[in-house]
Amino acid sequence: MSHAECLFCRIAARAVPAEVVGEADGLLAVQDINPQAPTHLLIIPTEHIPTLADATDAHTALLGRTVQFANRLARQHQLVPSGYRLVVNCGAGAGQSVWHLHLHLLGGRPLRWPPG
Ligand code: 5GP
Ligand code: ZN
Repeated sequence: MSHAECLFCRIAARAVPAEVVGEADGLLAVQDINPQAPTHLLIIPTEHIPTLADATDAHTALLGRTVQFANRLARQHQLVPSGYRLVVNCGAGAGQSVWHLHLHLLGGRPLRWPPG
């Protein structure tokens, strides 16, 4: 279901412009508008799932494909030798600000642990 008020539904519907860097079945990858690393992509399922905690067993295959899509993008962006990070912020306390499930793909610089 597409939500008229949801930023990432609107990006997926091409109603809001974004730097699209990849597409796969039911998935979109765009440049983050406020990058936190030399490579900072958002991998967005086109289905409106508000948070990771809202994913159900019906989404298991979609979640698997989302991670594999991120892996493919990481290879394309030459991130495998240096390492990369996939992040899902789930809930306001974890830093989620857009209420449509997405993965961050970060790489191109050393990434410290633990994250803040
Ligand atoms: P969250 O904080 O929900 O985990 O991540 C939301 C991300 O969306 C942030 O990294 C933020 O920079 C990015 N973002 C917010 N608005 C836009 C936008 O209009 N276009 C794009 N491409 N990214 C956005
Ligand atoms: Zn949405």
